[in-house]
Amino acid sequence: MTRSFHTLGLRPELSVALERLSYTEMTPIQAQALPKMLAGQDVTGQAQTGSGKTAAFGLALLQRVELSHHAVQALVLCPTRELADQVANEIRRLAQRLPNTRIVSACGGRPFREQRMAIQRGCHVLVGTPGRIGKHLRTESLDLSQLHTLVLDEADRMLDMGFIDQVDEIVSRCPPNRQTLLFSATFPDAITQLCGRIQRMPNRVTVETQVATHLLKQQVVFSEGSERDALIAALLVDLQPSNVLIFCETREDCRRLGQFLHDRGAFVLTLHGEMEQRDRDDVLLQFTNGSISVLVATNLAARGLDIQDLPLVLITELSPDPESHLHRIGRTGRAGAEGLAVSIVTGRREQERLQRIEEHIGTKIPIRPRPSTMDGDLSFLKPRYQTILVLSGKKDKIRKGDVLGSLVKEGGIPASAIGRMDLTTRFCAVAVETQFVHQAANHLRQARIKNKKVRVQMLD
Ligand code: AMP
Repeated sequence: MTRSFHTLGLRPELSVALERLSYTEMTPIQAQALPKMLAGQDVTGQAQTGSGKTAAFGLALLQRVELSHHAVQALVLCPTRELADQVANEIRRLAQRLPNTRIVSACGGRPFREQRMAIQRGCHVLVGTPGRIGKHLRTESLDLSQLHTLVLDEADRMLDMGFIDQVDEIVSRCPPNRQTLLFSATFPDAITQLCGRIQRMPNRVTVETQVATHLLKQQVVFSEGSERDALIAALLVDLQPSNVLIFCETREDCRRLGQFLHDRGAFVLTLHGEMEQRDRDDVLLQFTNGSISVLVATNLAARGLDIQDLPLVLITELSPDPESHLHRIGRTGRAGAEGLAVSIVTGRREQERLQRIEEHIGTKIPIRPRPSTMDGDLSFLKPRYQTILVLSGKKDKIRKGDVLGSLVKEGGIPASAIGRMDLTTRFCAVAVETQFVHQAANHLRQARIKNKKVRVQMLD
């Protein structure tokens, strides 16, 4: 099977974007699914985050979008806001050379009216969660009559989260002659039935969970239950990662472990489902741009979270479901970088879980010896950057270059001290090396950007 994108006959703007993104070869799911998708067929894909499935359906839907036609032509449904944001961003990256493509993300927990306005101002591709998309349909702020591509991403998870009625309602509002692409990590009966209801003669494509074993190494450490937190700290001292994602089972575990690591000098934040959406977004933003070195999270961070350069994932308690374990470890070893995932295994129950995971992946996971000392100072886990929020965004016609230019040219901040920048409708988040962050914030507080004063807030 050919792996070159050139054989697909993509529009030139998409080919240029692929070159700029350095996507030189198709991943297995892309090689299997794209020719069928581009031929207009329905596709059911068994694949997960890390396989390149987003670019697969993203390219297919962008290939068909008519930019002069101002209507929602493609809709992507995702189970969570985090995944929806990542999908929207990946589609934006692919559409970077298609002039004036409007990609809107509409999820719960965010202002409804702003979304309605964004949709009504003209939206070609809409990405969102079923609850919120359903609400836009019911309030008549969304018209799907011109839609040609419907995508259900992580369909199994959407059903697990109880979204089936909303999904059915949304599908019933889409034109019957649409193309329907459905991705799911697992195929329980409910998903097979859903495919039967909403797809027409779908082509099934499957890729095994892609764990790039040459890049992503797994290890297990056996432990006594009572010492889990201390063992995590000792492993961090042993491994000296620049940044790390640690999975816990419950919100309470997150809080306790977060405090434990903080008391030993690490710079830690936690992420769990009971946090306000805005706080969750802030935490994710800071972790992705290098302003937090340790993130202690529940499974909420297991899917969708796409962080470049995450060298280490620690798992404090093995998950009962092997697929869920693979999602967790798949946050590291991504996009060609090396990664290590270390799981702590305690007691009989978790040993049985380990056995199930090993059977699932068809190999034994090597045992890592326990750290030689259980003491240690974690103050090396200080982030390189801190985030400054400039509280003006796309709606104020601000571009990243305006903020960058002001910091470097007028503020005297070395360009090398400025890390990732994220621009949304409301704000521009800039990661600045910690030794320059106060100078940068003070400069922005008195600066004029696009001839206007801006409000500035530090995230910490
Ligand atoms: P996904 O499975 O959609 O979450 O994608 C996983 C990662 O692979 C993302 O960081 C994508 O940007 C990246 N990616 C997708 N397709 C390709 C490709 N053909 N070559 C290199 N990287 C890719």
